[in-house]
Amino acid sequence: LPTKLPNTGTTIFTVMSALAAEHGAVNLGQGFPEFSADPALLQAVTDAMAAGHNQYPPMTGVPALRQAVVAKLNDLYGSAYDADRDITITAGGTQGIITALHACVGAGDEVIIIEPAYDSYDPAIRLAGAVPIGVPMTLDYRIDWDAVRAAITPRTRALIINTPHNPSGRVATSGDLLELERIAEQHDLFVVSDEVYEHMVFDGAPHESVARYPALRERSFLVSSFGKTFHVTGWKVGFVAAPAALSAAFRRLHQYTVFTVHTPTQHAIAAYLANPAPWQGLSDFYQAKRDRFRAALAATPLKLLPCEGTYFQTVDYRAVSDLPDLDFAKWLTTEIGVAAIPLSVFYQRPQERGHVRFCFAKREETLALATQRLQKGL
Ligand code: GLN
Repeated sequence: LPTKLPNTGTTIFTVMSALAAEHGAVNLGQGFPEFSADPALLQAVTDAMAAGHNQYPPMTGVPALRQAVVAKLNDLYGSAYDADRDITITAGGTQGIITALHACVGAGDEVIIIEPAYDSYDPAIRLAGAVPIGVPMTLDYRIDWDAVRAAITPRTRALIINTPHNPSGRVATSGDLLELERIAEQHDLFVVSDEVYEHMVFDGAPHESVARYPALRERSFLVSSFGKTFHVTGWKVGFVAAPAALSAAFRRLHQYTVFTVHTPTQHAIAAYLANPAPWQGLSDFYQAKRDRFRAALAATPLKLLPCEGTYFQTVDYRAVSDLPDLDFAKWLTTEIGVAAIPLSVFYQRPQERGHVRFCFAKREETLALATQRLQKGL
């Protein structure tokens, strides 16, 4: 068949989850929580269906949910989004990202991605006819702003930023956002800001949303989702916040690609967001898991890299093996019984740094089983 993305294989998350299932490995590869959602949130979906919220909602999303999103963003980040003009409910973060890109870039444009970059960015840019330009982070996974500047050409049209960062677990600082704001203004760039881990930031650090920076907000599509925050990644409900002109362009595409998103779930999340800060406690919950997981991994030859946010812990395995990271991740899955994600797949020119990522959004017994296997096997 005439195909788009002819050189693109199956996403690493699907590959590693299948391998984990086949070999009975503990799946710390693909990132998804092992916990059930708050029963009140689950009940709210049933209630919304029983109340008759089963037909198409408005194309832009259920008004109560857009209002709840605006209240949250404006309270947390001091922004001034408008629920009617600036918020569109999406089928998760991935759709928000690809639709935002299609709204702002086209044939021949260049889009800068900071590598390691989440694996949907590159194909999303290519599908928009544009060219992804990978800019590697520093060796300790900070954004290399000099390298970003050096990568800008007259064709650069947009930049994707992701904080808290998947897969490294790094969190951008206000200095990073100020740099981004300067660069975006100077070169007149659009910004797609992937903030799906916004409520998982550790050690008291703030989440530096583009929404906090007025000049940046003016040129940004802020993408987030509820799946990670409320342990419901399969619901695929998220949102894009962007100023009116950007949202209008976004909605022109959204209406003919997705049209709108599952109605009862939107009502349920809107009702749930009416509770005081229902994401409160999530950072502490994951920080405690991070600390226990790191303590257990410290008893293995794996070297721990910093984890400042997200539910991912990246490790350096070079004291254990010389294998390339994809082979190491497969070996770990089939021979040790713990699945992980190799980081080289998140680069255009694969970088072998000897790093793999574990997801620690798992029950304590699951993490204990995984770390026992790693302690015994490595
Ligand atoms: N975001 C998840 C991760 O990074 C994976 C989602 C997916 O499988 N597409 O692990």
